Amino acid sequence: MNSEKILDSSRSIQKKFSPFITLPNKLVSNTRKGPLSGIMVSVKDNICTKTKGMQTTAGSKILEGYIPPFNATCIDRVLEAGGTILGKTAMDEFGFGTFSVNCAYGIPKNPLDPERSCGGSSGGAACVAATADFPHVALAESTGGSISCPAAFTGTVGLTPTYGLVSRWGLIDYANSLDKIGCMGKTVKDVAKLLSVIAGHDPKDSTSLQVGKQDYTKHLKVSVKGMRIGVPKEYFEGVDERVSKAVWGAVGKLESMGAALTEISLPHTKYALPAYYIIAMAEASTNLAKYAGMRYGLHKELKGNFDEYFSSVRTNGFGEEAKRRIILGTFARMAGYRDAYYLKALKVRTKVIEDFKQAFRKFDVLAAPTMPLVAPKFDEISKLSPIEVYMMDILTVAPNLAGIPMISVPAGTVDKMPVGLHLMADHLQEGKILQAANSYAQ
Ligand code: GLN
Repeated sequence: MNSEKILDSSRSIQKKFSPFITLPNKLVSNTRKGPLSGIMVSVKDNICTKTKGMQTTAGSKILEGYIPPFNATCIDRVLEAGGTILGKTAMDEFGFGTFSVNCAYGIPKNPLDPERSCGGSSGGAACVAATADFPHVALAESTGGSISCPAAFTGTVGLTPTYGLVSRWGLIDYANSLDKIGCMGKTVKDVAKLLSVIAGHDPKDSTSLQVGKQDYTKHLKVSVKGMRIGVPKEYFEGVDERVSKAVWGAVGKLESMGAALTEISLPHTKYALPAYYIIAMAEASTNLAKYAGMRYGLHKELKGNFDEYFSSVRTNGFGEEAKRRIILGTFARMAGYRDAYYLKALKVRTKVIEDFKQAFRKFDVLAAPTMPLVAPKFDEISKLSPIEVYMMDILTVAPNLAGIPMISVPAGTVDKMPVGLHLMADHLQEGKILQAANSYAQ
């Protein structure tokens, strides 16, 4: 397909499902030869691109019109590998959400049923991955589940790498100790290919791991025979029974291919959700302090004193959920509450990591449902309280707190909507989840 046809097709996807924040007027394909030659790469809008006319907003009005003077490291790597940047995809403001309904530039609709959510916060990325009729992969990002959730809800594949494997240079921070750039696509092979291009040490990111390049697609040929898979029983509590059934069916398939299944326990699972939200919001509230109408994005006529000016810009520029998180995060960090909330949450995080470390002494991979339900309808979401929305992340926050790699692959349907099988492995064991995911998908 030539660039004009690809752009036409993207425009028609945009018309039907609104997954893009920015699509270029003209698509210039990258002529460089490499592993991503001929492949369109859509970019979640919190990843900086210096392309003229392509703003980077992180889904927020406060960054409207911002064109960064540099590319994120992952963008440079995609370009060096021959990939073409297709456009910027819709997301919950700064990644704050589970359903991509906290978006300042239009809410992406689920292509399988436009009355339902694509999941969040990388909803736009998932929607393009599900609908593109041309070679495509998506750069997405997860803090607490933003790649796995939309993959599960749209029947696509979403890979969240080990924290630090992919450079965060040029990623607009949500919560620095949790943010990870990852990959979404139609197949396990697509995400493995993109990961091979973007992974590996970057001196510009001080949290980047000292890991060299490797070809992750080589793991796709290995069978799951003899693989030890743990199934944590806590990950089925409160899950829609039909979703549980589909996931047990999927792990049963892996067993029939020669993997050894064992039911296990990760006892600190129930504490992961409150700990995650305290840590994520505390970090987010500090990160958002810089958006004050001075250096980038939204600014107004300088009127009144600094406080008045800053608050009028922030009142106009931030959406409701961002404001909620600034208030809650600031509260958790206040001198009198720090020990009771923030420091306690950090201790819980260590316990959650220990649960996983212990499990990975005996098992190669852990398997669970990705989300406790299938993609909900927008009118159901509008009835949920903020806390009820946060609870939906119960299955994805623990592995994100631990910084371990995870992949969501489609595993059957409920009400004609896809269910996600979530596979998790120890730090830097991306190969194992790719191996299991690909065997299952075959
Ligand atoms: N839903 C979670 C949150 O709102 C995770 C989102 C994400 O990973 N960016 O924090």
